[in-house]
Parts: sequence; C-alpha cells; structure tokens
Amino acid sequence: MNLNDLDKLSQSFSATEKMPVLFLGHGNPMNAIEENQFVKGFRAVAKTLLRPNAILCVSAHWYTNGTKVTAMEMPRTIHDFGGFPKELFEVEYPASGSPCLAQDTKILLQPTLVELDEKWGLDHGAWSVIKHLFPNADIPVVQLSIDYTKPAEYHFELAQKLNSLRNRGILIIGSGNIVHNLALVDWKNFEKDNHGHDWAIEARETLNNLLLNGDFKTLINYHQISKAINLAVPTPDHYLPLIYVLALRQKGESLELFNDKLVAGSLSMTSVKIS
Ligand code: ZN
Repeated sequence: MNLNDLDKLSQSFSATEKMPVLFLGHGNPMNAIEENQFVKGFRAVAKTLLRPNAILCVSAHWYTNGTKVTAMEMPRTIHDFGGFPKELFEVEYPASGSPCLAQDTKILLQPTLVELDEKWGLDHGAWSVIKHLFPNADIPVVQLSIDYTKPAEYHFELAQKLNSLRNRGILIIGSGNIVHNLALVDWKNFEKDNHGHDWAIEARETLNNLLLNGDFKTLINYHQISKAINLAVPTPDHYLPLIYVLALRQKGESLELFNDKLVAGSLSMTSVKIS
C-alpha cells in the first residue's frame, strides 16, 4: 500500500491497544436463542474484550464469487436457514453498519478488487454469535465475504492485510465451524454432551494440536493431513473463517481455545482467541 492510499483511510477509528482476534464456532442457528454452555462461553470471552470501535466479521455463510464487503448504513438481519421455529425468524440484530470500515477494508485489501455491497446484511453466521458478545447491538458490524474461487493459502495472505485494523479498535471475528460435516450429523444424539464420531474426535485432536503448536502451514494444507480431516472439512466454507483469524496472529501472541466440544457427532464448537 502506498502513502496516498494510507491518507485515504478513514479518521473515524481512534488508535487503541491491539484488539484480539476471534474465531467463533457458531454451530446450530438455535444457539442464537438458546441458553447453553456455548453461549455462556461467548459471553465469558466478551468480558475479556475492550469495547471495539466496530466489528469486521468473516462468516462461513457469505461465500461469493469475488470479495465483497457490506457497505450499507443499516444492514438487515438475514434469516438464512429453514425449518427452525418462528421465534428464531423473529430475531433482529439491529447493529448499524460502517461505510467507513467497508471503505478502509477495500483500501487495505488492494490490489484485490473488493465490491462495496449494498444488498447483503448480517447473516446468521454473524448475528447468531455477535448477539451474545454485544447484546445491545451498539457496535457497528461489517461483513467481509469469502471468495469461493480461491484456495486457503490465498485467504491466509489476504487476511494479513487487515492487521492494522486491530490497532484502530476493530474486532475481527471469523465465524464458522472447524469440524463441520452436515451429511454425517447424528440426529439421534443431538443433545448428548461432547459427542463425536471417532473420526471427529481424531480430527479435533489433530487440528487442536496444530493450532496450539502454531503450525498454520499444515492447517492451510488441511486436505493433505488425513482421512479424518477430510471428513471433518468436506467443504472449505466453515473452515476458511479460521484461516482469516490465524493469518492475523502476530509474533508472541497467545492462542487459546474455548467452547472446545463436539456436538451431534460431526460438528465442533471449538473457538479460538488470539491476543
Ligand atoms: Zn454455519
């Protein structure tokens, strides 16, 4: 980025101490309205955060051809799921957007072309978890989409360009699920605590060790690790938000896991805080 571009960055975000980066396992959309151990985990991590100036969220559920960023003043709450109770469709998360943060994100990600989007809003990957962190919806939220035409390594490099936002009070959140195989969900044991198929138990252990050892290179090339990992990550959509978060870790920063449990056999709620 050249100096001219730096001048174009918005003055709206004051300098802060470096904000942490979060990966949140969002799981079942019902987590938005249920009281359970995972939402308690989200609330507990929120208590450790400084109040952000704004949030930039990379959700598994905004998976696009090319890269987009929500640029509207007031994003709508998108109920992008089916077959859930009416109560869930009635949830609104009325946080404002931040056209300034959208514009800054576009500048920082150059030369990648980023479209300023006016149509999307907040999908459930974003609002179902952010509502537990900031229930008053008083922090502006912007979403950044995931370009499905690009490999994990590309996303790792792209995300690194967002690092300076962390010094301006922007909380960057990736929302997905590390182990996420909907075809192999064990519906009969949906309520059983920490229930995983053998391959899911193996995959979680392997991936957690790689995370805690900082072996991000292997995590980027996840499909080469083992058969269990290929069952855990059958498609990249819910895994790539993690790659964005890992890319933002700076030398000497800690990486902690929380909500580290398996549910319904084939999903993990494992979440990550980097600070
Ligand atoms: Zn999801």
